[in-house]
Amino acid sequence: MSDPTTIIGTMMKTMKVCPNHSGGFDCNPFCRICEGNQEYESYGYLQCIRYHHCDTYVEEDVWHEELGFCIPCQALYFDQKIDPFTLEEIA
Ligand SMILES: [Zn+2]
Ligand SMILES: [Zn+2]
Repeated sequence: MSDPTTIIGTMMKTMKVCPNHSGGFDCNPFCRICEGNQEYESYGYLQCIRYHHCDTYVEEDVWHEELGFCIPCQALYFDQKIDPFTLEEIA
């Protein structure tokens, strides 16, 4: 009998280059996604870039298309209702 946990482990995870440095390998330990490893274990979902204010997870494809925002935050951003530096909602 083979260990089922190793099979699940190899099926679920893939290592991907962290999108925060987009190939520049300049992430630091404070990087939310890779914590300085420059790669992260992909499960197919990433947390909205406004993770201080928003805990939505979006599919990776969407995450990349929307520049790291979930759909509602992306809409706010393009309506200029989000501060581009702090990512806080502008009252
Ligand atoms: Zn990173
Ligand atoms: Zn969001």
